[in-house]
Amino acid sequence: MLHTPRTPHTPHSPARRTRAPARRRLRAAALLASAVSVCLVAASAPPAPLGVGDRLFPHLGNPGYDVVAYDLSFTYSGSNSEPLKAVTVIVARTTADLERINLDFAHGKVDSVEVDGEPAAFATAGEDLVVTPGGALDEGERTRITVRHSSDPVPPENRGGGWVRTADGLAMANQADVAHLVFPCNDHPSDKARFTFRVTAPDGLTAVANGLPTGVDRAGATTTWTYRTGHPMATELAQVSIGRSTVLHRAGPHGLPVRDVVPTKHRAALEPWLEKTPGQIAWMEQRVGRYPFETYGLLMADATTGFELETQTLSLFERELFTEPGYPEWYVESIMVHELAHQWFGNSVGPATWSDLWLNEGHATWYEALYAQERADKSLEARMKAAYGASDRWRAAGGPPAAPKPPDPGNKISIFRPNVYDGAALVLYALRQEIGRPVFERVEREWVSRHRDGTATTADFVRLASEISGRDLGDFFQAWLYGEKTPPMPGHPDW
Ligand SMILES: [Zn+2]
Repeated sequence: MLHTPRTPHTPHSPARRTRAPARRRLRAAALLASAVSVCLVAASAPPAPLGVGDRLFPHLGNPGYDVVAYDLSFTYSGSNSEPLKAVTVIVARTTADLERINLDFAHGKVDSVEVDGEPAAFATAGEDLVVTPGGALDEGERTRITVRHSSDPVPPENRGGGWVRTADGLAMANQADVAHLVFPCNDHPSDKARFTFRVTAPDGLTAVANGLPTGVDRAGATTTWTYRTGHPMATELAQVSIGRSTVLHRAGPHGLPVRDVVPTKHRAALEPWLEKTPGQIAWMEQRVGRYPFETYGLLMADATTGFELETQTLSLFERELFTEPGYPEWYVESIMVHELAHQWFGNSVGPATWSDLWLNEGHATWYEALYAQERADKSLEARMKAAYGASDRWRAAGGPPAAPKPPDPGNKISIFRPNVYDGAALVLYALRQEIGRPVFERVEREWVSRHRDGTATTADFVRLASEISGRDLGDFFQAWLYGEKTPPMPGHPDW
């Protein structure tokens, strides 16, 4: 994710990109207090919300199973203020004996739940949908959960939803914790799965989702568009676009299909920007290796989101970033590279917990800044020196990069603070200063290759850098990632 600056004239200042977007979030406590309703027969103890114990979002995710695949069907009426009809099919493997299955789901009406074809009881507890199948599930079973529900694009009061309402339809922005406002899921980045999307929309609208299309079926006055991901994906990276869109196709490096989704009426203005993508992919590949997915492209949403988002294979951008004349060209391109870099750092290699967010944003900021230096002569060193000067302040406000403070009450998106952007790119700069450029570049390549399609922790990164440099970098990283104060910069005693 990257916040869009609202005053586009001095975009070099990292602080500009830290303003919170206009989203407002409901206090979790208020939400918890509002909703414990039992819909069918429940087991003896009252259903309770569970989580996987994420330090920043304790209630996200659920223990006892691992999702293998989601199959999501949405039927769109043509109005983005009406709930969509939806069916979510989850194939999961249990990792414990389970009498109940907790799913994260908090913003839609559930009509029915089936587990392995049999009706199941269900209840709401906090932000969980608690499912009680007719018989308990044993550890190691493969189970299929079908939920028929609505998916409401109008966000709950005081909280941004996963759906983003655009001028001509819908897009999705689930990071960090709102996929479960769209569909029932195990809403934590540690549980990646394959996704299939089936979107039915009235004629005249085009639907696009993560991955590649596998079918277009016309029936009467509607069309159903099917997409499938070729790689596992976290719920926070799901994307579904519905709108009066044109899908543009071009070839990326070694034949990679590049497809962009633009509002048809803005196509002419946006196309010159989109032509830059293949060159940017090639630039990234030269630095870290092959692009990790089956396709890439930009979704230019006709909406004011306040941010850009690296939804897997199809990054979400505000149209205004490209049509507002105040942004210098090099700056817009560097933001395109930021979201592109996330496809390796954050998507293919996902964070194991939200405290590992610096690995996403630090690397995306790093390649954003490197690109600006190489293509527009914007000094990386000057940017890092400025970040060094601000780093203690950022740490005081947001915590050290790898131990960020919890989100501000009512604004969960506030974990996206400067400490994990330029503050974390600064850690990578310090590492490069410490171990030298060639070794640093080997660490980067090996990181995305070794953890491809998986999740990784901060400790994994420390281990890898130590392994490749042939030195124990534990103390170095302890100070840079967890210190209250910013350590001295190697090679820059004057800073
Ligand atoms: Zn980002």
